[in-house]
Amino acid sequence: MKIFAVLPAAGTGSRAGFKKNKILQNIGGSCVLARTVSAFSLNKNISKIFVCCRECDRSEISDLLQDFDKVVLVDGGETRTESVRNALEHMLPLAPDLVLIHDAARPFVSQNVIDDCIRCAQKYGSAICSLPCTDTLVQTSNGHIIAQYDRSSACTLQTPQGFSYASILNAYRQIGDNEQFTDDSGVYAKYIAPPVLFTGEWQNRKLTFREDFEMQNFRTGIGIDTHAFGEGNFVVLGGVKIPHTQGLIAHSDGDVLVHAVMDALLSAAGLPDIGYYFPDTDAKYKNADSLKLLSHTADLIQNQGCKVGNISAAIVAQKPKLAPYIPRMKENIARVLGVPADRIGISAGTNEGLGSIGRGEGITVTANALIIEQL
Ligand code: MG
Repeated sequence: MKIFAVLPAAGTGSRAGFKKNKILQNIGGSCVLARTVSAFSLNKNISKIFVCCRECDRSEISDLLQDFDKVVLVDGGETRTESVRNALEHMLPLAPDLVLIHDAARPFVSQNVIDDCIRCAQKYGSAICSLPCTDTLVQTSNGHIIAQYDRSSACTLQTPQGFSYASILNAYRQIGDNEQFTDDSGVYAKYIAPPVLFTGEWQNRKLTFREDFEMQNFRTGIGIDTHAFGEGNFVVLGGVKIPHTQGLIAHSDGDVLVHAVMDALLSAAGLPDIGYYFPDTDAKYKNADSLKLLSHTADLIQNQGCKVGNISAAIVAQKPKLAPYIPRMKENIARVLGVPADRIGISAGTNEGLGSIGRGEGITVTANALIIEQL
């Protein structure tokens, strides 16, 4: 059986508010369209993938997809309906049996969903990916609810939507000049028959708004720092001066907590470590206030197009007792990073007397950072 896929990618994605087509945005290290194409390319039952694109995106998309040998680029239309029709007409000489039409902006489609779509379309001639409606559905007018829908019989439609090629082409050829459809189930339903549903997956959501993209670009980093005790009568942790019988040996103020946090942030952003930006050979950083260095680190993260999600740090110190100071440490770090204090987690424990830390020779901190890449 000859099965093709159609990915309409000729929209502008204006609701996402990017300068260029949203499907060309990067998400988690690869572009949305390339991810979607990759999912269909991996499926061994699909032999060709028709990607509808606008003239202005064509060369970029062509470069982007050059390694996918199943891909055929076709001209997109002014509307989704026109784009799909162009693709269906274009493949006519190749006479496929089934065609799966899928939103390019649903990059998380799984092989299970694609396989279910193929099976259902083979059996019934149509296959519409759907999910039961879990939110309450209402009809509105001027910001008021004017009617409630019966949720139990409602569902939301996703893609892929699979059809016998002959039927969907036939349906598309009957569409009037000014008729527009938001998906292909509507076209099939109007001109052929009520299409058959199969159950999709929540993960196969459509990336529509800017937040949909931000949610995906999570990056984590880890940072570890250790300082030994030496002369002094206080330590600085998280910008809080804590009285102690010794101080921490350091070029800066020895804020081992803040140093670990900085390294975690830099690591998450794929940047060089703290020693690169703030070398302890530079006199400028002699006795430096580490919170100021953290502020500089926050700028570096922001320059990479990232914002801080949360920080989680574990201090291991046999002494002094740190618990009373932790709330202030959190506040200081949160203030400098521009996040609420509840995004900073700090725990403190001893090393149960084991090893150098357990013998009270120094303090070590491990920190994790989560940053969110903004597009
Ligand atoms: Mg350090």
